[in-house]
Order: sequence, then structure tokens, then C-alpha cells
Amino acid sequence: MKLVVQVKLLPTPEQAAALEATLRGCNQAADLVARTAFTTGITREYDLRKHTYTVLKARGLGAQAAQHVIKKVADACTTLKANLRAGNLGPPGSRRRTRAESRPITFRPHAAQPYDDRCLSWQPHARTVSIWTIAGRLRAIAFTCSKRQLAMLVAHRKGESDLVSRDGMWFLIATCDLPEVPLTAPNGFTGVDLGIVNIATTGDGLRHSGKGLNAVRHRHRELRRRLQAKATKSAQRLLKKRRRAEARFAANTNHVIAKRIVTEAERTGRGIALEDLQGIRERVRLRKPQRVTLHSWSFAQLGGFIAYKARRAGIALIHVDPACTSRQCSACGHTDRANRPEQAVFSCTSCGFAEHADVNAARNIAARGVAGWAVSHAA
Ligand SMILES: [Zn+2]
Repeated sequence: MKLVVQVKLLPTPEQAAALEATLRGCNQAADLVARTAFTTGITREYDLRKHTYTVLKARGLGAQAAQHVIKKVADACTTLKANLRAGNLGPPGSRRRTRAESRPITFRPHAAQPYDDRCLSWQPHARTVSIWTIAGRLRAIAFTCSKRQLAMLVAHRKGESDLVSRDGMWFLIATCDLPEVPLTAPNGFTGVDLGIVNIATTGDGLRHSGKGLNAVRHRHRELRRRLQAKATKSAQRLLKKRRRAEARFAANTNHVIAKRIVTEAERTGRGIALEDLQGIRERVRLRKPQRVTLHSWSFAQLGGFIAYKARRAGIALIHVDPACTSRQCSACGHTDRANRPEQAVFSCTSCGFAEHADVNAARNIAARGVAGWAVSHAA
């Protein structure tokens, strides 16, 4: 399975200037190739190379960089065609579609540039890289990353890495190819209930409260509103920076939650049962302010993180239908709206079983996981 590791480069001012010139140069070159593709109608990598390779070399791009630029443009053309075909840019004649069709593809000055092992080499133990730039090869650019990331780079880094610049910082995003871990036969399932008051709750009562998170998100939203009111360029820039910071915060939170859930499943030898995420918006009906929070919380991302962490650990994962999991009694199966008198309280009107509402729901999800697994693995 493929994973990416992002490391932060610590270039000297001179090195940073060379990287800057390189990224700009490569993306200007990509614009040029895209113009050729547009005017000639040639979009295949091989044919584009025939038309543009010499020009790119003459502009100071190395052989590998030139090929990567051409491939980047060819890939962008393929993506655009697929999007047009799928109707993602609207029906023929629509403004968006016409705009996309009537001009060449352009690249941001800081769009990511791929590097292979011939133009980028890693010295993980020294925490340095040597990288091709327009100003010549830069040796021993320092980078920083966690111990775990370093171990991953040493053991599994393979193939291309992307050079990326964000908010004045430089990053390399390296691809790692991990061997598949054989699936362990699950000894029961841990159910995970997703929601707003508690982002995630397991049947064992492991709860990730949304309270602190939602407070932070409200603060972010307030700040964003104030910035949006100002139309200045610096406010726009700040806004962009805030958005990224928020996305990082959410991703980091999701990583932490996913890790705890997967570690718990690993420790107990169980599989993980997740609710089918498509149902979550219909299922949760709340007052408006909370609805906004839910829609903007990335449960899909959390589900994705749990899935890949589970796969990496060889843990079984199953998605179940979440219908009525919050109203059904996990002890006797009795389903009734009255079983849940309050947001946090589950109290069965039939057998008297009482539990935190989210824990009860998580246990129902676990039971459905066991049943679903038995069905799909009967043969
Ligand atoms: Zn009951």
C-alpha cells in the first residue's frame, strides 16, 4: 500500500532562492507545453515530448525535469478530458466548460513539481537531500521530520517525490510503498459511532468529545468572517492561511482519533465496524448552528484515516447500515424513538437497559459488523 511522508526542508536563503527559481521555471515551462498542447491538439506525453523537449532543454531544464514537466502537462490534459467527459464542468456550452475548453491549461507558479531518484537523492540518516535546481544541483539541504517518518523513509521510500512550497515554507512529499499486511481474523468487532457532540464513540466507551473541537471551530469561523468582511489583499492572504491552518487542525484531530481507535482494535484483536458514511447527514437532525459544524467536519476523512491505519495493521474493517442504531437497544434489540429521551441518554422502554446513547449506538454497529462479516466470509 502507498503512503506519503511530508518533510519540511530547511534551506539557507540562497538554497531557497534556487528552489523558488526552479519551481517558477518548471511551471512557466509547463505553461509553455500546455500552450503547445492547446494550439496543436497534441496531448499524449510521447508526442508532446517530440514537440517541446528541445525547447525545454534550451530553457535550462535538465533532461529529467523536462520530462517531468511534459508528463505533468499530459496528465493535466488527461484529467481535464476526463472531467469534461464526466460533465464535471457542466454541460456543453456552459460558461465554465467553455472557459476550460477555450484556453490552454495554466499552472500556478508554485504548483508541485515531481522529482525522481535521478534528480533528487535522499540521505535520510543525515537528514539531507541533494536536489536538481535551475541553478545547478544543491547538495545537503537539511530537512526535518519525526522519528517515525524517518524510519518510514529509510525502509519504504520508493519512486517520485513532489517539491511543494506553501506559505513561504518548502516541503518534499515522498511516496512510500509498504508491503501488504495479511488480514488477521477478527475476534469480534469494535463499533464506532460518529456524531457531533462526540466525534467518535466506541462500544467500550472510548469517547472523543467534539466540545473542545467545536469551540475551536467556532473561533476559526468568527475570525474568517471578520477577514472576509475586509476585501484587502492582505486579508485575502490571511484568509487563505487560516483555511489551511484549519484543514491541518482537522486532519491532525482525525489522525489522533483514528489512531486511538485502531490501536484499541489491535490490542483487543478485534475488527472495526464503521457506519456507512452516506447516511450520516440524513441521520443527524439538529438545530442549525450544529448542522453547519457537522457538514464542515470531515467524517469522510476520518473514515479514510481509520481505513488505511487498519489496513496497515492487518485489521478487518467493515461498513454497516447505520439506520436506527441510536434508537435500537443493544441488549434486547427493541427499537423505539422513546428509548432515547435525551441526546446523551439511552434507556430501553422494553428491558430497562440504560447506557450512554452513543455507546449503545456503537454496540449496535459492532453487532452489525459481526453479522455482516459472517455473511461476507461464510464461504
Ligand atoms: Zn432493551
